[in-house]
Amino acid sequence: MRGARKPAGRISARETIENTPRIKTHEMAWVKYKKKPGKIFPYAKRRYKQMVRFRGRSSRVRSYIHSHTPTGRKISSRPSAYDYALVFEEWRLYKTRKSHIIVISPSGKVMGYFSMMTGKRTKKLSRKTIEAIAKKLAEYDRLMNQKMKNNEKKKIVKEAKKLLKTLIDEKLLLIRTTPMPGFAFNKNKREFVKK
Ligand SMILES: [Zn+2]
Repeated sequence: MRGARKPAGRISARETIENTPRIKTHEMAWVKYKKKPGKIFPYAKRRYKQMVRFRGRSSRVRSYIHSHTPTGRKISSRPSAYDYALVFEEWRLYKTRKSHIIVISPSGKVMGYFSMMTGKRTKKLSRKTIEAIAKKLAEYDRLMNQKMKNNEKKKIVKEAKKLLKTLIDEKLLLIRTTPMPGFAFNKNKREFVKK
């Protein structure tokens, strides 16, 4: 009976995610395929505590999804500069527009989706320009993960934030936050919080 079927999408995806082993401690990756809308498929090659390696990139993928695990008791929803870099690289190489981060609470619940997308205006940029943006973001990520003096690091963070702000203002990068029921996105903290 068709009408009795459970609606696909967020709810079932959420269950899949929350039932994933080690979801509280290890990042995980999934994809949505262009030809199979609504469903998510596991896509991790290797899982680490603060990182996940995806299987090969492909033009069949509609969007990439990965989880951010809490660091200790702290929620970790913020995309890394590398996460932003990949959005541009995936667009440049495979015309994949979307990438989502699933923010996991310390108790292993999905708090919300942090979505990053290239905008319509990104299509007008040359491949070279897109590559330059991705390279710059990846470079910031590499620098931020290096040991350096506090004021040097502050300078890098400031520069990276400035570039991100420009990308968002120019509508080359679109951000959307989607809290799950029971949670909200706090704009000042830039974190999902319990309601
Ligand atoms: Zn990430």
